[in-house]
Amino acid sequence: MTDPRTAVVTGAARGIGLAVSRRLAADGWTVAACDMLDEQLAASAKEVGPLYRPFHMDVTDEADVNAACERILAENPPVLGLVNNAGITRDSLLMRMDAEAWRKVLTVNLTGAFLVTKTLSKTMMRQKAGSIVNISSVVALVGSAGQANYAASKAGLIGFTKSLARELAPRNIRVNAIAPGFIETEMTLNLPEEVRRGYAERIPLGRMGRPEDVAELAAFLLGDASCYLNGTVIPVDGGLST
Ligand code: NAP
Repeated sequence: MTDPRTAVVTGAARGIGLAVSRRLAADGWTVAACDMLDEQLAASAKEVGPLYRPFHMDVTDEADVNAACERILAENPPVLGLVNNAGITRDSLLMRMDAEAWRKVLTVNLTGAFLVTKTLSKTMMRQKAGSIVNISSVVALVGSAGQANYAASKAGLIGFTKSLARELAPRNIRVNAIAPGFIETEMTLNLPEEVRRGYAERIPLGRMGRPEDVAELAAFLLGDASCYLNGTVIPVDGGLST
């Protein structure tokens, strides 16, 4: 890849977002790495190198999103890629789930993607070029007891993906989603060992995924090699959802 191109990755300080950023940088993308964890962003910047540019962004705060996007667009044009990866869980059974846990998860995982996509798609529409990848989850496809808020947010991202795939295609912008299974990151690290083992036993490939397994597909979906993929939802789950 020779022409300069920037990809915005949210939740890029660690986990899947960091692995995606590392993989995109290896392909020559400049990565606008957005997160609220400023210290972790700085540490990751040292590790990944000069193509990883840290930006403070809370995806739930519209003013913060707009200010960060303005700086990214001014300092790193052209923005041709976006990976909506920032996400959280607040798990509990429905009977114990309070409205705050419901709202918080929907706000970060779904409204956050809406705010960032709305801002950056304007510039992609002007350029008549872009690729957007939304990080959904296998639980959007098969459900998960104790994760009604999380599964609803991730299923919402699939509807968001498919609608935008239709809406933005005439401007040469593709929109796809990845549905990771159980991936080894801090999000799943805190699960009790027997729960992790239980999950792994249900995965046909017999192991949890690595952040790099997701990053590989994200890089493919952002790149030109996937130029005829639009509106797809691709599981990276070792066969869990089959
Ligand atoms: P992670 O290690 O917890 O990383 C998520 C990152 O997003 C963190 O750096 C987090 O920062 C950041 N973030 C949270 N809220 C944010 C906000 N409002 N604005 C900006 N950044 C924010 O999780 P991960 O496992 O890498 O997950 C990445 C994505 O993959 C998520 O969307 C997750 O739902 C999805 N996913 C993960 C798995 C899995 O098994 N790990 C499976 C399916 C889907 P803070 O620490 O400050 O919150």
